[in-house]
Amino acid sequence: MATTNTTPASSTPQAPHFPEQVTGMYVLARALKNVGIENVYGLVGIPITEAAYLVQDQGIRFVGFRHEQQAGMAAATEGYLTKKPGVLMTVSSLGFMNGLTATANATVNCYPMIQISGATDPMMVDMRMGTYEEMDQYNTARPLVKAVFRCYKAEDIPSAVTRAYRAAVSGRPGGVYIDMTTPALGQIMNREDADKLFYEPVDVYSPVAPNQAAVDRAVEILTSAKRPAILLGKGAAYAQVDDKIKTLIEKYNIPYLPMSMAKGLMPDDGPLSALSCRSTIMEKSDVVMVIGARLNWMLSFGRGKWNPDMKFIQLDVEPQEIDVNVPIAAPVVGDMGLSLDAILAKLQNAKMSADPTWVTSLQAETKEKNAKFQARLQANKDASPMDHWTALGVIKPIIESNPDIILVNEGANTLDDTRDAINMSLPRHRVDCATWAIMGMGMGSAIGAAVGTGKQVVAIEGDSAFGFSGMDFSTICRFKLPVTVVIFNNGGIYNGIGKPMDNTTDPAPTTLDINARYDKLGEAFGAQTYYVQTPEELDKALKESIASKKPCLIDVQLAADSGAESGHIGYLNPAPIQQITV
Ligand code: ADP
Ligand code: MG
Repeated sequence: MATTNTTPASSTPQAPHFPEQVTGMYVLARALKNVGIENVYGLVGIPITEAAYLVQDQGIRFVGFRHEQQAGMAAATEGYLTKKPGVLMTVSSLGFMNGLTATANATVNCYPMIQISGATDPMMVDMRMGTYEEMDQYNTARPLVKAVFRCYKAEDIPSAVTRAYRAAVSGRPGGVYIDMTTPALGQIMNREDADKLFYEPVDVYSPVAPNQAAVDRAVEILTSAKRPAILLGKGAAYAQVDDKIKTLIEKYNIPYLPMSMAKGLMPDDGPLSALSCRSTIMEKSDVVMVIGARLNWMLSFGRGKWNPDMKFIQLDVEPQEIDVNVPIAAPVVGDMGLSLDAILAKLQNAKMSADPTWVTSLQAETKEKNAKFQARLQANKDASPMDHWTALGVIKPIIESNPDIILVNEGANTLDDTRDAINMSLPRHRVDCATWAIMGMGMGSAIGAAVGTGKQVVAIEGDSAFGFSGMDFSTICRFKLPVTVVIFNNGGIYNGIGKPMDNTTDPAPTTLDINARYDKLGEAFGAQTYYVQTPEELDKALKESIASKKPCLIDVQLAADSGAESGHIGYLNPAPIQQITV
């Protein structure tokens, strides 16, 4: 009987004759090594299990997770912190989809990463033959990432990996997807032929310079400002141009306001920090230089509260970011480092005309606001059970006296309050839920930060936020990473006192477990754990955990009524929950 002409290559399994023969999986592992990848995050299964072993064989660290989304968050975080793409490896269908969540999030946040997923033979997928884990992954990923590649044969792999690397880091960084089909992974080649496929890619990142007219225009506007300010975003932190930013700010005496992940790029408590004067900067500045930030929802779209006569200067690598929401008086499109070099060179011969009282008035306002904030932390210092501020009053001095610890932070009140309470003094030491304000990045990001940088990490997590990724605390333990996870348990989303509607005996939609003992979960995986109910216990637990450099989990018991519906987005959550009626 005639067979269909879509005979799948993968239907006739063969084994290579080692050592003279290899498979596409070997080519993949070597291709990753060839472009300098040091860590791969993933979760194995058919068809990538052997590929992960071969990755290890190349001397690349393979960090195996319990959920692909967290492996992806780790890859994305490594990408953000190191400026090299983090790599995620997933199995087909659901594993691919779980990981894609993180790759899409990385793309939105401009973090470079590459997701490589095993994929069923596309000839069978396209004919809808009902093969194993049949899914059109290539086209599913395409609208959510920066670039997609599909390898049909092993010979395609080195080129796909190199081009994925270029795509991830060049221009605006982002997530790239490689559909690694089973025919390509399983293809048998002579080792000699396989080894000839590799080449040294030239300039995987080529910075693009801004044009001089744009630089001249920006400097003209900046130097004529009476009340100038600099807004620092995570694009500025990512670019690793710390000294240039410091020179621009300090030499020309310009106050700066950091977005959450740009905190520490310049010290939060430095003399020119306008962290406590956000509203004043928005309302009173006449020129704001936006460096690697987007005037999106987090900045009221550059409208409303902002001075309507404001002149924005915007430094961004992505031309399409200019004039989003508000006209930009001076766009400087180019690589951050080259743009700042050109601006600093032009400024050499220029004179600032800022009002001398501008900085001093911001400093006075900062002093007053900081005193109020300190009083707020102090006012709650003996609350029993603790509330968010009591706990943060204890944690703040410990983290601030260990500035090289990377702080990972997610939650609702836990996010807002921790961001406000803890000053950062080093660049790229804060990783949070970023542009989409998502929950479920905690354990993955903590792992990516620890593995990608070799530094110690403290993750401060809301109890709900922790729930999304909690099982990957076990990955922290398996890899013996120096990560302390602090869980603020107030028993719910926002808080633990939500009342269900009258017609049900079910818990309220916002209610979780105020009595949950998250420390027991840590215990299950051999971590050093603590359950703390008082400020003294928290102080001791955090200091001990940091000193141990071991996987630690601290369950911080808060009051169920600590915290409120948060987000500061009035138009998205207009009615307080208590006012909802049936
Ligand atoms: P934040 O959330 O801190 O405001 P965003 O992620 O909104 O930061 O904005 C970061 C911006 O930085 C993006 O518009 C991105 O294009 C830009 N960017 C990222 N990397 C670079 C770079 N190397 N050079 C210049 N701009 C960059
Ligand atoms: Mg909570």
